[in-house]
Amino acid sequence: MLKLFLPNQQVKSIYEVRPEDLLARGVKAIITDLDNTLVAWDQPDATPQLLEWFKVMRSHGIKVLIVSNNKEKRVSSFSTPVDIPYIFEARKPMGKAFRKAIKLLNVRKEETVVIGDQLLTDVFGGNRGGFYTILVIPVAQTDGFWTRINRRIERRLMDFFKRKGLIEWEERKQ
Ligand SMILES: [Mg+2]
Repeated sequence: MLKLFLPNQQVKSIYEVRPEDLLARGVKAIITDLDNTLVAWDQPDATPQLLEWFKVMRSHGIKVLIVSNNKEKRVSSFSTPVDIPYIFEARKPMGKAFRKAIKLLNVRKEETVVIGDQLLTDVFGGNRGGFYTILVIPVAQTDGFWTRINRRIERRLMDFFKRKGLIEWEERKQ
């Protein structure tokens, strides 16, 4: 049961996710979280480095879709200028948005990775949906209100996984 909270892969940031590695594993699409995964939760726009990452993925034929639990205003004002499709108020870890995502992407779940910074929403939802999951260290050390509550539970899961030697690198706030 707890295994459902354990990511398949852990990286320090999305910039460690490279198209060559994805293509080698037959991955054609990325479902990614927005807040504290792509940019800090309180940063309105994409950074130049992120724009480059989108561009590189695109040039390798890898589709990117943002799936966020945040409100329409936040998600659309971030995604529209960078021309990345999105789903807002996704209610992760619920499965509906993930199913909608692969339909929009026109790929199978086996060809898709789910990237995010939270065990309770991104990783749990992705694993339950049968996706390959990648956990990133949160971009910012702060969180929005609801996330702060989730982090308390996450902290205990993290400690458990660390004791078991299943997660090594993370350095997170309390
Ligand atoms: Mg997040």
